[in-house]
Amino acid sequence: MSGETRIRCFVDFERDGRQVGHLQLPHSSNTSAYGWIGIPIAVIKNGRGPTLFLGAGNHGDEYEGQITLLRLIRELDPGRIQGRLIILPAENLPAALAGQRCSPIDDGNLNRSFPGDPDGRPTAAIAHFIESVLFPLCDAVVDLHSGGRTLDYLPSALVRRRGADDPMLEAKVAALQAFRAPIGYLVSDVREDRTIIAAADRAGILGLGTELGGAGTVTLKTLAVARAGVRNMLAHFGLSEAAAGSEQGEETRLMQVGGPEYYVHAPCRGLFEPAFELGDEVAAGEVAGWVHFVDDPARNAEEVRFAGAGTVICKRPILQVERGDCLAHLATDYPG
Ligand SMILES: [Zn+2]
Repeated sequence: MSGETRIRCFVDFERDGRQVGHLQLPHSSNTSAYGWIGIPIAVIKNGRGPTLFLGAGNHGDEYEGQITLLRLIRELDPGRIQGRLIILPAENLPAALAGQRCSPIDDGNLNRSFPGDPDGRPTAAIAHFIESVLFPLCDAVVDLHSGGRTLDYLPSALVRRRGADDPMLEAKVAALQAFRAPIGYLVSDVREDRTIIAAADRAGILGLGTELGGAGTVTLKTLAVARAGVRNMLAHFGLSEAAAGSEQGEETRLMQVGGPEYYVHAPCRGLFEPAFELGDEVAAGEVAGWVHFVDDPARNAEEVRFAGAGTVICKRPILQVERGDCLAHLATDYPG
């Protein structure tokens, strides 16, 4: 491994104003021997100040962030900010163009590809560029996700708790509350170090993610949460003036998502009949639903139960399930 990115970047990170261009990721394929993939990038800068990374399209079937950042790139007057925005509205462009979670080129899931590999397949090369070239320029990272095609969320922001003594914990909770999604939750699976917010942790900068909605679409509500959240983040990280009381959105319910007991998975293949809705408060052992066997009506449905207690913040909208599919997950109130 040479260690150096092969991606070529023609935007000037030091220039004031708005620049919109493409990162050129070399990709030699059957249809284009000496081609490159043009990953959109925008830099909006005004004088000195903090640098905020804004990302979307990490997963191609999550749309609120893509729409919000495409609008922001065109509509934000650089004179209205102090500092610098580095915006990637379609981080894994091949996946975003295909409307798929993973890249159709290499089946790469960008949010399981960090720290990446400059000599790897396209998705790994993108992860490497973001972590090793862009993050050293940044003070904070906001990456906009939703549930995609196979999950649907109560609109949420999230941060990663890095062990029991995370030195940034207080700042992370403050950012969670400042985003003003209806729910803000902490995840504490430190084994998962392949995500973009784990990459932010490695870079020593604050990383915030979201799960804005999903089910393969957007709603006016989830778009409004995304739009307000991004504006709130510009103010929170000191890029825009925030008059007291000007925060948009509602008060955030602080929650946490822990281990396997927060999740419900399909025990077998079949047609899932849920017994719950998004937002329900459920008890440990409560019935989550039943898996029916469409081609075998005489066979009893398989009962599925919640392992733990909590609030259902995520639900699978697709009812055909395979063994191991995530059907739902819970969050519980954050004790802090
Ligand atoms: Zn995602």
